[in-house]
Amino acid sequence: MTDPSPDPARLDTAGIQKRLSAFRDERDWARFHDPRSLTLALAAEVGELAEALAWTGDGDAAIPRDAAADELADIATYLLHLANALDVDLGAEVERKLVTTRERFAGLLPGTPSRAHGGAA
Ligand SMILES: [Mg+2]
Repeated sequence: MTDPSPDPARLDTAGIQKRLSAFRDERDWARFHDPRSLTLALAAEVGELAEALAWTGDGDAAIPRDAAADELADIATYLLHLANALDVDLGAEVERKLVTTRERFAGLLPGTPSRAHGGAA
């Protein structure tokens, strides 16, 4: 379902998904884009990002931003290809998840860490 009045700040994931599908189809690569293969490719790209950030320390200046940005683009590309293979509107799912996450942490005071951040909530 298309949002009749999309937030102008919202990333156009549906548009990017369509462009990636067109790129895939121009090369007849859909036959390679099964969910399992795309998930493994996605995991490999996450590994490449981890490799780029490994041993850089906590200092912000030590992070190789160009390499990290390149790997993030690879990750996003495979993630969106995977969303296409599973017929998922990723932008809509992220928006839906943001609503449920806001509800989940509605009672948490600002600055309080969630369980994922080492807190109790
Ligand atoms: Mg890569």
